[in-house]
Amino acid sequence: MSFTVAIVGRPNVGKSTFFNRLLQQRKAIVDDVSGVTRDRQYGVTDWNGKYFNVIDTGGFVADSDDVFEKEIAKQVVIAIDEADAVIFMTDAATGVTDLDTSMANMLRKIKKPVFMAVNKVDNNNRMLEASEFYTFGFENVFFISSMTGSGSGELLDAITELI
Ligand code: GDP
Ligand code: MG
Repeated sequence: MSFTVAIVGRPNVGKSTFFNRLLQQRKAIVDDVSGVTRDRQYGVTDWNGKYFNVIDTGGFVADSDDVFEKEIAKQVVIAIDEADAVIFMTDAATGVTDLDTSMANMLRKIKKPVFMAVNKVDNNNRMLEASEFYTFGFENVFFISSMTGSGSGELLDAITELI
């Protein structure tokens, strides 16, 4: 169980919703490693019998762009230090934002597999906004809804192929 996946992305894209869904479904234990900073949560889950660790990054609420920038930079460091693969989550309800672009630029440089998960694709009406995220140029792009669970199977299939 040494494979670790970090979920990164700017605040409010749905990282924690996805993390909770992943862990509840597998009845895994969510465990707050640092009760002081609360800047990440760790859990263990499995998909088709393959177990892996999941890190939900970005636990604090920020209210200015400056703090947001620091937050996403910190998440990238967590991903580089602790993960074998990264889920880069964005939000089809808002479309591409500057913070998504900054984060994409950082993640392109890391030497780890990055799976782009465009979240909040709850229905086909969101596909137009969702397809904007192809412009970031990541090879693995998945359209998911953490609310309904749609698309997450394909994402997890792709990730667990690496294990
Ligand atoms: P985080 O800051 O990235 O961890 O985002 P959260 O998981 O806290 O979610 C932020 C907001 O987006 C919450 O109000 C969620 O209910 C909502 N949300 C998360 N996933 C989805 C989704 O797939 N569809 C929709 N419509 N809303 C979602
Ligand atoms: Mg969160």
